[in-house]
Amino acid sequence: MENLTPMMQQYMSIKKQYEDCILFFRLGDFYEMFFDDALTASRELEITLTQRDCGMSEKAPMCGVPHHVSDSYVSRLVEKGYKVAICEQIEDPALAKGIVRRDVVKVVTPGTITDQAILDEKSNNYLVSIYLDNLGLGISYVDNSTGEMYTTELIGEGDEINSFLIDELGKILPSEIICNDVFSRNTKILKILKNTINPYINIYKEDEIANKDWKSIVLSHFDVETLEQIELNNRLYSIIATGKLIDYLYKTQKSSLEHINSISYYKPNNYMILDISTRANLEIHETIIRKDRKGALIGLLDKTSTSMGGRLLKKWLEQPLVNIAEIERRNSIVEYFFNNIVIMDDIKSILSQIYDIERLASKISNGNCNARDLISLKSSISVLPDFRRILKNCDNIELGNMGISLDTLEDIYLLLEKGINENPPISLKDGGLIKEGYDSELDEIREACLSGKEWLATLESKEREKTGIKNLKIGFNKIYGYYFEVTKSNISSVPDYFIRKQTLTNSERYYTEELKNMEDKILGAEVKSLDLEYQIFSDIRNEIKKNIERIQNASRIISQVDVLNAFAQVAYKLNFVKPNFNKKGIIHIIDGRHPVVENNIESNLFIPNDTYLDTKNNMVQIITGPNMAGKSTYMRQVAIITLLAHIGAFVPASSADISIVDRIFTRIGAADNLSQGESTFMVEMNEVSNIIRSATKNSLIILDEVGRGTSTYDGLSIAWAIVEHITNVIKAKTLFATHYHELTQLQAKNKGIKNLTIAAEEKGDQIVFLRKIVEGSTNRSYGIEVAKLAGINRDVIDRANEILSLIEGNHQININNVPKEEPKQLNLIDYKKDYYLDKVLNLDIDSITPRDALNILYNLKEDA
Ligand code: ADP
Repeated sequence: MENLTPMMQQYMSIKKQYEDCILFFRLGDFYEMFFDDALTASRELEITLTQRDCGMSEKAPMCGVPHHVSDSYVSRLVEKGYKVAICEQIEDPALAKGIVRRDVVKVVTPGTITDQAILDEKSNNYLVSIYLDNLGLGISYVDNSTGEMYTTELIGEGDEINSFLIDELGKILPSEIICNDVFSRNTKILKILKNTINPYINIYKEDEIANKDWKSIVLSHFDVETLEQIELNNRLYSIIATGKLIDYLYKTQKSSLEHINSISYYKPNNYMILDISTRANLEIHETIIRKDRKGALIGLLDKTSTSMGGRLLKKWLEQPLVNIAEIERRNSIVEYFFNNIVIMDDIKSILSQIYDIERLASKISNGNCNARDLISLKSSISVLPDFRRILKNCDNIELGNMGISLDTLEDIYLLLEKGINENPPISLKDGGLIKEGYDSELDEIREACLSGKEWLATLESKEREKTGIKNLKIGFNKIYGYYFEVTKSNISSVPDYFIRKQTLTNSERYYTEELKNMEDKILGAEVKSLDLEYQIFSDIRNEIKKNIERIQNASRIISQVDVLNAFAQVAYKLNFVKPNFNKKGIIHIIDGRHPVVENNIESNLFIPNDTYLDTKNNMVQIITGPNMAGKSTYMRQVAIITLLAHIGAFVPASSADISIVDRIFTRIGAADNLSQGESTFMVEMNEVSNIIRSATKNSLIILDEVGRGTSTYDGLSIAWAIVEHITNVIKAKTLFATHYHELTQLQAKNKGIKNLTIAAEEKGDQIVFLRKIVEGSTNRSYGIEVAKLAGINRDVIDRANEILSLIEGNHQININNVPKEEPKQLNLIDYKKDYYLDKVLNLDIDSITPRDALNILYNLKEDA
């Protein structure tokens, strides 16, 4: 350490406090990085790596970025999963004695970043704090870009805690986690996290918990006297997790955090639980294969006009309600818009003029908003009176109340209207921010600058006349200040009182005493004016900062109305209906549709289907039918309709009566989890075991071809046992699609089981899918027919049929009984035969004229 230069010593001592961060160390106009940080940053940002003498025998690796463009570099590093500590010079270098004092002013992390350029406008960005011990768990989370904070806790242990953690984290999808040692030793969960969400994980030591009074930290941050006021009394786990979260925010943001001014405690059973695989299987947020939002359920539903609404919709889909009164409250508003489309459209057009004021409010609180942000805020506020009027006039109590409680923020509007220029620059230091007439001192200084400039114009023409130099002009640059510029050809006419300042190729620049004196005055006034403008801007910003909560409250009403209005638009456009709710455990859907599949095929081609599930004779339905018949679609549609009903939306059906469901479970298809080192069958069994452990009689379970990842008899036996267990023990409403036709025998012995099938018709050797679900069963899967449809070679198909008929005759496969496959060479004639056969088979003979038929024959002959 002693050998290091003083500056490097300072660097080292700061870096020691931020070892897990890349340290951006301010040196003049640059942020420099050294040693390993430099190696990482130069690689990740593709910037040049250099070296710097640091007092040691070897030079230190170094790289740097200019300070005025540093934001984008910081964001890129954070996006790649690093934390960045910004270290500034905290005293004026001109006044510093010895080395300039420096300190870290902010730590930017994946879970706290607020840069809108990299945040998804329609998703929250959460930082989660987890405190776990052998008696319980506390989870708190915050979105620093919007100011929302939530917490919950669970007293328990083992599997119960693990599945709760996985479900919650799967819902929150944090980009960063802070957790204690105990959590970090839970390798099972860490492995799942790493393979799915892959958040940045900060681990702290247990003794950090004992050393602090978390209760006081929480009380003081939320500025309350008692824990009752924030519903955290006797919730020790939540208090620790929240305290740690707040502590981390202060340590990284180093600001006052006005935007994080409330916390919501929620009970885990306040919402329907959807685990990670159910969200994925139902393609709620993205499609399974292409990871595409547009093709997912949210893509279809998201007719919101504001970013806040977009985020709220996502949240509602993540945590559907289980309280009928709350659901019906949402429903009644959707219904009102649905029945009043003029109002629905008016509201949509008003909302589309509102910017992301929730994130703007956080920017204001963090102190990093510019004048353009304030103009966006102003123009958003400008539509609030209209919005309020429409809401208040609605003949719906909920909407009327929202209108009454909507704060139209007129004082903030007036302040911004009076103070901030209409088209301000991005920079806060170059002026152009504050309107004329807002501040008399600023106006005077500006006036002085202006009259100074007029004075310069007069001086220019006066000197032009005096010297006879026609093209003499006064110019200005930042380094030399004001000057007279004379072209080389006129130098002989330059008078003695002109003092040379700078020589250029074609001209000389001069000053005079008079010009110099005025320069001091003008420049002094200009600097003063810029400083004052910045000061006034900060004052306005601080004034708004005091009102952050009011902006957030308005934003909450805006986002709710936005989502409910979007539900109405979707319902109107796609022909959805308002669902009813019952407490009898019945799900009764008439003409239900899968909204996404329906939307992807030509209109009117989707065949609706009815569903009736109850707690008695229709509890478990075993669905058989050919491949491609529509079994998965049908089962998912039941799950999606149930889900939509629980978020307060209308549903794709002609009527729906839904009972409250505590969880939806799905086990669909073979999710490929090979990266986790588990076979497909293992993954399937893990999911089924989770379902069996956690499902209740109020759950809805969708199982698609469970057991197919192992040998036929194993698979059948497992499937059989699962169906029996669900029917006899769990008693959850269940849809079970299978190709094990043997399972349909269970109906005869178990009261709760019903067989359903999706019909298909055979026409010649083709199959026609009717897509209609009916009671009964089928003992055929038409696998070979579907393989043929998919274009598998005729030889393979014929051979498969040959083997199938043998197996069906003998009920077992004995290789000695299967005749050897005759070698078949595909010669050209055979190939042509297939070609003609296909052409003829594909003809719709009833719909062609005799003349067409003749033409086709001619063409075929021509092809020969
Ligand atoms: P299965 O699970 O029986 O193999 P899917 O549910 O995957 O069949 O359905 C296969 C395809 O059939 C779907 O992609 C869709 O295009 C179409 N389909 C399914 N159900 C319907 C329906 N009710 N109406 C129209 N087309 C449907």
